Amino acid sequence: MKRMSIRPILIHPDPRLKKHAAPVEGVSDEMRKLAEDMLETMYDAPGIGLAAPQVGVLKRLIVMDAVKEKDAKPQPMVLFNPEVVWTSPERNVYEEGCLSIPEQYAEVERPAEATVRWLSIDGEQQEAKFDKLWATCVQHEIDHLDGVLFIDYLKPLKRQMITRKMQKLKRELAREKA
Ligand SMILES: [Zn+2]
Repeated sequence: MKRMSIRPILIHPDPRLKKHAAPVEGVSDEMRKLAEDMLETMYDAPGIGLAAPQVGVLKRLIVMDAVKEKDAKPQPMVLFNPEVVWTSPERNVYEEGCLSIPEQYAEVERPAEATVRWLSIDGEQQEAKFDKLWATCVQHEIDHLDGVLFIDYLKPLKRQMITRKMQKLKRELAREKA
């Protein structure tokens, strides 16, 4: 039995979070293991989505579970090479956060619905339309694959403020380790 493991999550600012991730060429056992580790890492954090670059792997892979109600059945999703193929003209505003930008939240406006195409963990082509929190989550995670963070949608001053807080947090974490 392969055991899942929790991987360390990169904290902004980190050059790996600003890179364009490469497509996954076929869903190998190694990629499946990565996806399972990412789900484990996401649930542990806890969060509702995680992209491979956030654990330092520059591959186009995201995992998510936007079921928020306590006691509701979990709905883990694994998407290889996800691609937005349609977005609604209607837009929605959600307060977003990010596991790579801990404890910082801000309102971001995005298309309210998005149709996404991807490869499943079994290597099969899938397509689905996402709405509500799922739509925001899937767009936020796909952004990570292109080096885009939710703070990139904020006004420069607010973005700089958050980045400075994260630099301070990283210095503190480094000091704890030393
Ligand atoms: Zn994020």
